[in-house]
Amino acid sequence: MFNKIFGLLTSMSTVFKHLFKKPVTLEYPEKKIIPPENFRGKPYVENCIKCMTCTKVCPTGAITIEENEFNINLNKCIFCGNCAYYCPVKAIKMSRDYELGVSNKEELNLVYDIKRGSDNV
Ligand code: SF4
Ligand code: SF4
Repeated sequence: MFNKIFGLLTSMSTVFKHLFKKPVTLEYPEKKIIPPENFRGKPYVENCIKCMTCTKVCPTGAITIEENEFNINLNKCIFCGNCAYYCPVKAIKMSRDYELGVSNKEELNLVYDIKRGSDNV
């Protein structure tokens, strides 16, 4: 009997302890987290000089460059940040965009127009 009452009080105290704490989860998508500055989300490219370094340091072969088209295949990207780290002119940046859900996997192929110098998706 004593054990049951003790167990009940313990569980009630646990409930009360957590009742007034700030929740650790958010009601996504109504509420969204703000990722930290060093977060590695969707990469984007601007002012690329076509040195090809990123294609060599990408461990998954997610980057291809043809003529003036710069492609990053997010189906292959593991968001390691190597491309951004080794780019000599910091043309690749890892954004804080983490909402990458798509209904068609072709949409995960990011295409940037190198001539225009900015995002062409
Ligand atoms: S973040 Fe990593 S895996 Fe993704 S494109 Fe850059 S180097 Fe490749
Ligand atoms: S993004 Fe940077 S590393 Fe990649 S080809 Fe362009 S300039 Fe070179």
